[in-house]
Amino acid sequence: MSVPRASLTFPQGHSVKSLDFPVGLFINGEFVAGEGGKTIEVKAPSTGKVIAHVAEASVNDVDRAVDAAQKAYDTVWGERCPGHQRGKLLMKLADLIEEHKAELASVEALDNGKPYSMAYNGDISLAANCLRYYGGWADKEHGKVVEVDDSKLAITKHEPIGVVGQIIPWNFPFLMLAWKIGPALAMGNTVVMKTAETTPLSAFYACQLFAKVLPPGVLNILTGYGHVVGAAISSHMKILKVAFTGSTLVGRQIMKAAAQSNLKPVTLELGGKSPNIVFDDADLDQAASWGAFGLFFNAGQCCAAGSRLFVQESIYDRFLEKLTARVKSLPVGDPFAPNSFLGPATSEMQFDRISAHIQAGKDEGATLHLGGGRHGTQGYFLQPTIFTDVTPNMKIAQEEIFGPVLVVQKFKDEDDLVAKANDTIYGLASAVFSRDISRCLRIANKLQAGTVWINNWKLLSLHNQLETQMPFGGYKQSGIGRELGEYALHNYTAVKAIHINISAPNPL
Ligand code: NAD
Repeated sequence: MSVPRASLTFPQGHSVKSLDFPVGLFINGEFVAGEGGKTIEVKAPSTGKVIAHVAEASVNDVDRAVDAAQKAYDTVWGERCPGHQRGKLLMKLADLIEEHKAELASVEALDNGKPYSMAYNGDISLAANCLRYYGGWADKEHGKVVEVDDSKLAITKHEPIGVVGQIIPWNFPFLMLAWKIGPALAMGNTVVMKTAETTPLSAFYACQLFAKVLPPGVLNILTGYGHVVGAAISSHMKILKVAFTGSTLVGRQIMKAAAQSNLKPVTLELGGKSPNIVFDDADLDQAASWGAFGLFFNAGQCCAAGSRLFVQESIYDRFLEKLTARVKSLPVGDPFAPNSFLGPATSEMQFDRISAHIQAGKDEGATLHLGGGRHGTQGYFLQPTIFTDVTPNMKIAQEEIFGPVLVVQKFKDEDDLVAKANDTIYGLASAVFSRDISRCLRIANKLQAGTVWINNWKLLSLHNQLETQMPFGGYKQSGIGRELGEYALHNYTAVKAIHINISAPNPL
């Protein structure tokens, strides 16, 4: 059966003209067709047109990938490949990704819809940084000598887990791949990954680079539907750990499948409804810039998006005016236009979900302050939307919308704010603006959130938002475990305690 290929063409004037590459399943270092030659249609969200047909994996294909990953683990990776060597390979991968930054960013912009400049300076650059960072860790995560009594030498070893499964979403397709494979490969595990069925192309393009650097079977990449391939990974008896980024609903299913199969540990990075808090003594320009960036970046399709804006009563009108002006200035449009800030929703399904939330906001009596409709005539673009007069019990104040829809609420004082900000099932991120740093820290301590940004403000770059070196993950139903930083290494190591008897032989 022949391996499908993608032939992509980019708009006139763009630095990359066209790309042609295999989009088969990447198993054991080779591209192969899916079982029965089945394919999945992939659309460009900026036009709604079909741009490729990629191989669709089946449950048997998952088995094939697991076998390849197990063989690689047993023969060429894990403890058969020393940490410094694994690190060198990850750094080589980072270099190759940087060499192909324009191609990868072009594929990402076409497939996901995010602006090319953001994919280039954000997603792809950060993915290379992430792999380089974990390459550095590969020979630095050691066990300990633990003091017990003088009859024993007690040591711990940090070992790889084995074959791990990873399931990623469509909002940052290539960056999420890097966040997942970086720590897993650095710690000596082999990987079976499933990309999102709507945005598989950047991963397939990069498989050509992975094949140049990694031994066959170390990294296997499949695309396919969640209820088939994702479910097969979560319940696989030979996969010893699963990591997932996506919705809380699916996170719950993955945890259940993991529990009911081999009780594999899970890392879950799930949804959010993050508060963005502006006190009356804040630098309002700075706060307005973050208010716009924090939600409308990536067209609102960020798990950490500051989707609930809380403004202190005394500055509410003044702040709303500044924020509105800022949001109105954000260009919506073609991902390949040089100044676009907001691209389309990544799929028609996501467009429909967001539109349904906008309708719910109107039906529940919130005021549609800005936007609320489709932008343009083709693709899945939405206008940047702001709702005011929102009460905490409304659907738009409680549910993750995952689109360019900001809900604004007032608060009186610190106690009122903390109660409102924590009134959600989620706890992923938060942001606080005040010139009083003691107040910021007081609030930071009380927020139930895995990340707190204090007085951050950059508008056009991802860099101020997340740092590769800092952990990222959720409180409450926003997830389990932490990605990024040193913390992510613990997701991919098994700790072995070794007790060595050093006492003199007992004469009896
Ligand atoms: P999703 O959770 O269904 O999809 C994410 C990934 O999980 C995809 O690769 C998908 O194929 C896979 N998946 C789906 N069902 C599965 C199953 N039963 N077992 C294993 N894997 C499975 O997300 P979605 O339906 O694409 O989007 C729904 C909502 O999820 C969005 O509106 C948004 O609120 C949220 N979301 C959050 C993130 C995040 O970064 N936390 C990312 C994407 C979506």
